[in-house]
Amino acid sequence: MNFPLSHETHHVQTLATGHVVPEPERCIQCGICSFNCPIGIDVRLHAWLGKPVADSYCLTCGECVERCPRGVLHFEKTGLFLEGKE
Ligand code: SF4
Ligand code: SF4
Repeated sequence: MNFPLSHETHHVQTLATGHVVPEPERCIQCGICSFNCPIGIDVRLHAWLGKPVADSYCLTCGECVERCPRGVLHFEKTGLFLEGKE
């Protein structure tokens, strides 16, 4: 069964609040993430170094997360977009 609306809703929330975080021990350095990033961020290097994609140009589009064959990448919420709302 398909739930396209709930998927989209989740995606929009991700766009608003997340950044990409790798689990380096799972990464095989295949480069699929970097290859599929629409703005050319070297996500593979971030995975190698175990560092979040803190690049301010990151669109949080989720392409790298979805394409990684090893499930290395996931979104983690940051407080960045919540500042000033409390
Ligand atoms: S796609 Fe996944 S396994 Fe491949 S380099 Fe990127 S993070 Fe590592
Ligand atoms: S979320 Fe999108 S823009 Fe950001 S690093 Fe991944 S593929 Fe590139």
